[in-house]
Amino acid sequence: MSQYDYDLFVIGAGSGGVRAARLAAMTGARVAVAEEDRVGGTCVIRGCVPKKFMVYASEFSHAFEAAEGFGWTLPEQAPTFDWPTFLARKDAEIARLSGLYVANLTKAGAELIMAKARLLDAHRIELVGQDRVVTADKILISVGGRVWMPSEVPGIEHAISSNEAFHLPALPKSVVIVGGGYIAVEFAGIFNGLGVDTTLVYRGANILRGFDEDVRVHLADEMRKRGIKIVLDSQHERIEKTPTGLVSHMKGGESLISDEVMFAVGRVPYVDELGLEKAGVALNERGAIAVDQHSKTSADNIYAIGDVTDRINLTPVAIREAVAFVETVFKANPSGFDHDMVATAVFSQPPIGTVGLSEAEARQKYGAVDVYMAKFRPMKYTFIGGEDRMLMKLIVVEATQVIVGCHVVGPDSPEMIQMAAIAIKMGVTKAQWDQTCAVHPTAAEELVTMRDKYVAPAAG
Ligand code: NDP
Repeated sequence: MSQYDYDLFVIGAGSGGVRAARLAAMTGARVAVAEEDRVGGTCVIRGCVPKKFMVYASEFSHAFEAAEGFGWTLPEQAPTFDWPTFLARKDAEIARLSGLYVANLTKAGAELIMAKARLLDAHRIELVGQDRVVTADKILISVGGRVWMPSEVPGIEHAISSNEAFHLPALPKSVVIVGGGYIAVEFAGIFNGLGVDTTLVYRGANILRGFDEDVRVHLADEMRKRGIKIVLDSQHERIEKTPTGLVSHMKGGESLISDEVMFAVGRVPYVDELGLEKAGVALNERGAIAVDQHSKTSADNIYAIGDVTDRINLTPVAIREAVAFVETVFKANPSGFDHDMVATAVFSQPPIGTVGLSEAEARQKYGAVDVYMAKFRPMKYTFIGGEDRMLMKLIVVEATQVIVGCHVVGPDSPEMIQMAAIAIKMGVTKAQWDQTCAVHPTAAEELVTMRDKYVAPAAG
């Protein structure tokens, strides 16, 4: 019998922690999971899942417009959206999913402890508020990240973050969203689709820094076509609450008035009050828990996965890190997750699906590259005389003809990129890719029929 209460103690019941706890318990290990909030973590409770429901809800306004173009007569009184009805349904579904996580954990034999856990040393864990200390052989930290708000902006207390956006008592008439990353562009699409007058304010020259340049330009254009105002090179000086709304005073002297101001300027690893230093767990220069390729921290028996390690902050990545952890520690099969060529989607409107390198990254890494690019109006929108355009782009290393980047902006691009990622992860060449016969009539067929290299127009 082990000298410890548990073989594995998991701190944080989000997507990564729950997967690790279940898989470890299924090997016969004695496992406990501590959660201070709700089971499911960021993704299920205040991230991907409720966000996707909001995207679905907000897409109807564009669909209603398209319906008219196809001959539908909409009622004279335009369809209306009831926010409280949506919120109640959304919350019920989140509760159901959280319940499923709990059921799966207990079915696998793991014990769920609803408390904040704090390390006292490398093997002892305090359960805050329960006046209890437990011990464990191995510890897994999977506490995720938390919203970061710039406290130096006067009046920031009047602004909301994505956490509050999921629970607003009423839909605002107007919103200013600050930031140019995933969350900012996704919520800009959501609010705009729900009929909220939406302004996106970003400090740089264009949104989605780090994404392919053509993708950034294309998405910003499409967002503007749908009515989102995008203010670039602009930063908040202060926020003033007035009887008529919130006034965003910008550093250039201009001001914006709105019912709500939402900051989406990044998330940080949630390492607060975990007792890491007492257990000998070191942070890296970004304030995340430093880990090796097996997700092991600087303490020999303590591991960390997911957003708290700030590698690639995506749910499926945390899950794969969890699987590799259990293989390594409980199945004597040392494994690591390969973080290369992870596909991702931005659920903006229109959405983005992307895998691999941007053109600029590919040029820097490989030198000469061939670019294939198509911009076109999908047939659904040509039919109704709509202006929506789709973008597809492939980046191919000239010397080897291996595809190292694929970027799609437009309807269903997140679904397309999942499939494209399989071939690209396998190292497909452009010639092999082109052997694939098109599926007709689809937008995706354009991806396998781009034959002519794209030559950027000369500047000036
Ligand atoms: P991001 O890191 O993606 O973007 C943060 C944005 O805020 C950037 O545009 C950044 O600008 C800007 N910013 C940072 N600091 C300031 C400041 N002081 N003032 C003004 N602007 C500032 O963070 P998000 O919060 O959007 O998302 C967090 C992470 O969550 C993502 O990186 C992603 O990993 C994950 N996520 C994934 C989703 C998905 O898979 N669909 C959806 C939502 C989140 P700059 O570019 O100039 O640094």
